[in-house]
Amino acid sequence: MLTVFALLTISTAVVVYLKIKNASSILRHITVSEIKAYKRSEISQDDRRQITRHISYCAKCRQLMLDTDPDEMIEHLVE
Ligand SMILES: [Zn+2]
Repeated sequence: MLTVFALLTISTAVVVYLKIKNASSILRHITVSEIKAYKRSEISQDDRRQITRHISYCAKCRQLMLDTDPDEMIEHLVE
């Protein structure tokens, strides 16, 4: 009985840990260089999935994604 309880506690802890880990990676905002890499398809499937998930709810990064031109190298000089 104690073993079952211990197993339940461990599995719950693992699930909570994975949820927190997942949430923190989603909450992190996307950088311009990541967006450029995304648009040039220079990132891994995992990163791609993460970015797609992030912009699905983060309007700020979605706008940044729309505004970022992957071929524009001198963006800081353009006003
Ligand atoms: Zn964001």
